[in-house]
Amino acid sequence: MSEVKAKHPKGLWVLFGTEMWERFNFYGMRAILTLFMVNSLMMKEEDAAILYGGFLGLCYLTPMLGGFVSDRFFGNRNCIMLGGLMMAAGQLLLFFSASTFSTNLSLANTLMWTALGVIVFGNGFFKPNISSMVGSLYPKQEKSKLDTAFTIFYMGINLGAFLGQTICPYLGDVEIAGVRDVHAFKWGFLAASIAMILGTLVFFFLKNKYVVTPDGKPLGGLPSKNDASDYEEGEAQKAVFSTTALIVSIISFVILFFAIRYFTEGTNIVKTIIYPIIYASGITLAGLIISDSSLTKIERDRIIVIYIVAFFVIFFWAAFEQAGSSLTFIADNQTDLNFFGWQMPPSMVQVFNGIFVFAFALPFSILWDKLREKGREPISPVKQAIGLALIALSYFIIANNVKDLGNSGLLGIKWLILLYLIQTFAELCLSPIGLSLVGKLSPKRFASLLFGVFFLSNAAGYALAGTLGSILPSTGDKFLKAEKLGIDLQAVLDKRITPTPEQLELLSQNQISAENPVFVGFEIHNLYEFFMVFVVLTGIAAVILFLLRPVLKKMMHGVK
Ligand code: GLN
Repeated sequence: MSEVKAKHPKGLWVLFGTEMWERFNFYGMRAILTLFMVNSLMMKEEDAAILYGGFLGLCYLTPMLGGFVSDRFFGNRNCIMLGGLMMAAGQLLLFFSASTFSTNLSLANTLMWTALGVIVFGNGFFKPNISSMVGSLYPKQEKSKLDTAFTIFYMGINLGAFLGQTICPYLGDVEIAGVRDVHAFKWGFLAASIAMILGTLVFFFLKNKYVVTPDGKPLGGLPSKNDASDYEEGEAQKAVFSTTALIVSIISFVILFFAIRYFTEGTNIVKTIIYPIIYASGITLAGLIISDSSLTKIERDRIIVIYIVAFFVIFFWAAFEQAGSSLTFIADNQTDLNFFGWQMPPSMVQVFNGIFVFAFALPFSILWDKLREKGREPISPVKQAIGLALIALSYFIIANNVKDLGNSGLLGIKWLILLYLIQTFAELCLSPIGLSLVGKLSPKRFASLLFGVFFLSNAAGYALAGTLGSILPSTGDKFLKAEKLGIDLQAVLDKRITPTPEQLELLSQNQISAENPVFVGFEIHNLYEFFMVFVVLTGIAAVILFLLRPVLKKMMHGVK
């Protein structure tokens, strides 16, 4: 590590520290968010999962806006500080929401929705700008260091995630005499807010000294007086779209929005408005770029590769992002959380992802380097297919472990830890590689927009994660609660008995569904079937992406 450290500009460590605190704030909040919605705001798990997916999806839609505002008006530095302050404010609003719900539930709900909105925009300003500053720290002749730089940065992300997912659950997800303290969540949100303020302060005080070019010029200033602009040679070349192309795009967006909405069931506004916005934006932007007449055949081929990979990445994030919703609900409701004699808070189980990324990011990048030296490094889409296959494997293992649990058996925490270990290997095959692949395949004038498309595929993945998280069938706690209410939930779900209107009301008041969830026409009867949905989706995606590799390799025209 020390050798790596010596070779990289000090600015990288400032960005590392800033991003670390920001991810502390983001992942710390993500750990407890859905549990807060369910336990304090009395939402149904299904609705919490859908809102969570929509919220994360929007967090990856707004970077387009953040990138645009930074390029045209404010510059990277200001956007990072603005985004940081907005996220800190959003967390504070969550703190207030979690402080008021017991006296004024409707105010608490309004505060929660406002908070999520503010965080969505804060993240949009922060995330693309900090990532692009990592790239601009390196002069052209040192771009080869970028892969390591991003690996280090990815470790900062996950160190932050690890700290946030330890401290926020420790403070916020608390039991008193075996019963959850629904008033404690606020401390988790407050810790997240403080972390974000720290991150913004780190950046504010250290940026002028360290976030500079090798000859000391400031990076990421206002676009109008950016004296370091000559530094990114050739990158000033921007895409210019004709008015006709823009009008066609707007019309396509509207048509797509309504078409997707038409096929969306239910009345949940996140599902019927936000998800269609996310999906339609991704497809529209992709269409706008690929129809540009200035593209050469090679450029177009390479962009199509980005699109194909982006499409498959959707299934990856949809499966991976169960961490903050369904997997946390399972950890909460049907898992034996005894960890070497200590009862781990359910929201803390996610922390294993951060820990494992931190431990394995460097070994993975060394592995790719070694394979490259031997000429045996797989092309990026193959690594991504491996990532998808690993996710399928992780769910296959867990599916087989929940198979015989019945309604009252508990899943051992070790299986969730194993799941996060395998999913971390999957993430390391897919996530850091995806960004650098987009960088390598994009024609310069479309690079930031294509990053936008790639982020939008993440967003689409999160929206799908919401839909998939919402088909979690009833877990053990629901059967127990129903039993206490004198209702045989299994018999109701199996339609062996028809509940009376009073019983239905009772179930609904207790956030228990009287019907099994349905996904594309299939009824999900139990946790085994729920997990198998992910095995099938990611497994098929892995196989198809793997089979496409000769075609993709050809279309990449020499790029690895
Ligand atoms: N865990 C990474 C981060 O928080 C990657 C997330 C993503 O690309 N969707 O930045």
